[in-house]
Amino acid sequence: VAALTAEKTIELLRETGALLEGHFLLSSGLHSPRYVQCARFLQHPRHAERAGRALGEAVRGLGPVDVVVGPALGGILVAYELARAVGVRSLFTEREGERMTLRRGLEIRAGERVLIAEDVVTTGRSSGEVAEVVTSHGATVIGVACLVDRRAGDLPWPLVSLVQMEIPTYAPDACPLCRQGIPLVKPGSRAAPSTGGSERGATS
Ligand SMILES: [Zn+2]
Repeated sequence: VAALTAEKTIELLRETGALLEGHFLLSSGLHSPRYVQCARFLQHPRHAERAGRALGEAVRGLGPVDVVVGPALGGILVAYELARAVGVRSLFTEREGERMTLRRGLEIRAGERVLIAEDVVTTGRSSGEVAEVVTSHGATVIGVACLVDRRAGDLPWPLVSLVQMEIPTYAPDACPLCRQGIPLVKPGSRAAPSTGGSERGATS
């Protein structure tokens, strides 16, 4: 299998219906011509595994890793496949009320070098919440790995991604897509267009 380049990643995201083009209402209330739903990409274990291997290569420069931690739900599969590639444990944090916590008997040990894994990094807010859990256990965050980097600001850790994507957002009253009369879609509120499956043509 060839290396997973940024171009190939975008191709696979498109092919699996994870990268949608149109006119979307984001949870922030802003409008956007693009929407990324990584669950549709990660539903294919061989794509997820391949992404994990590629991220595993990409994080080599960060030095030794003891454990990978992803925030539920989006980070769980990315953390798992990255941990498989690196050969370490995979954990996930989850919300208990408002607070991000480590539950289910999962443990981060003092002194461990921790990679945070996410599907998409935008504001870095959930990475920050995971980092608080990590440091509260006396461990160190050495970096963040994600499938799609669509960052809106800086992060305090090195960020490794498969693809960087600029996704424009518009306030509803300044949205060119609204002006063109393109119907606004709330992602997840209806079935996305069928993609013909990725069991073929996805191995190149
Ligand atoms: Zn709009």
